[in-house]
Amino acid sequence: MKLAVLTAYLESLAPLVYQEDYDNSGLIVGNPDQEVSQALLSLDCTEAIVDEAIATGCQVIISHHPIVFKGLKRFNSKTYVERVVEKAIRNHIAIYAIHTNLDNIMGGVNQRICDTLGLKNCRILSPKHNLLKKLVTFVPQSHANEVRDALFAAGAGNIGNYSEASFNIDGVGTFKGSDATNPYVGEPGKRHEESEVRMETIYPANLESKILMALILAHPYEEVAYDLFNLTNQYQQVGSGMIGELEIPQNEESFLFQLKDKMRTHVIRHTALTGKPVKKVAVCGGAGGFLLKHAIAAGADVFVTADYKYHEFFDAEGKIVIADIGHFESEQFTAQLLYEIIRKKFPIFAVRLTEVNTNPVKYFI
Ligand SMILES: [Zn+2]
Repeated sequence: MKLAVLTAYLESLAPLVYQEDYDNSGLIVGNPDQEVSQALLSLDCTEAIVDEAIATGCQVIISHHPIVFKGLKRFNSKTYVERVVEKAIRNHIAIYAIHTNLDNIMGGVNQRICDTLGLKNCRILSPKHNLLKKLVTFVPQSHANEVRDALFAAGAGNIGNYSEASFNIDGVGTFKGSDATNPYVGEPGKRHEESEVRMETIYPANLESKILMALILAHPYEEVAYDLFNLTNQYQQVGSGMIGELEIPQNEESFLFQLKDKMRTHVIRHTALTGKPVKKVAVCGGAGGFLLKHAIAAGADVFVTADYKYHEFFDAEGKIVIADIGHFESEQFTAQLLYEIIRKKFPIFAVRLTEVNTNPVKYFI
């Protein structure tokens, strides 16, 4: 299939607008029109990964971490970043990154950590704002159901675990078409009154063009009246970190023991144990220190994340146990997650999990 078909699907689940400002998710190297028959999945995109793609006949590498974060000015093989890009281009291998946009969705990187730890009732720890909008439109009674259905099918009306949410109120619309019109009801040049429904529904801003297209196609009028509003509401489905609960509370030692086992980590760096049972657990794959306040406010007993610095450990202040399990370890199941996502949609497309361990951190035990 065309590479664009694959990336469009990934971006329908993890839209690029959900990535953080510093990130560079998306197609980094390659032509969206190129044909691909096999993808290599990895956490990082290193030279060894490009070599593996060449050796195994993969035309695209899909990695969690983007190989390029900042602008590159020269390509003279000086750094591993330049060498990866040069080698990929020379060998017609595309590089695609699905990073913080995959972290920030339900069903993404953090959900996979929650599932691995057996957490229930999981939700986003720090939901994002300014991603939702509201549509208000005015529809003749005769077409209210049809328009509502079309809006829902295009992705409007979802709030938490509820779908098809809208508010509807009956009223009277007026309009007068010029001689150039061919109104659905009424006559040109005469004011017409029509029983209409004022229909309101919510939608993620990134779906706006799709939703407006659905509205215009389903609405019978030549000119469709609608208002769009920016909402400052939190979007509960998108944001950083997750929090969930253990089915049965555990003491801290046994929780850490299981954490070490399930996340296949050599060592856990953690703050002083509090002596309280562990019930609520916050997680953030990779560097999650910025979420500590959210984890404490949400009542988490333990915060599982990575990349903690010495001084940052003091911030636990006996309120929570910070458990740093290592960056690679926290995200090691991400390639498997991508494998399942792609396999489910494209069952006959070949996807290959890397056999290279890209963790640059070694443990001398
Ligand atoms: Zn990471």
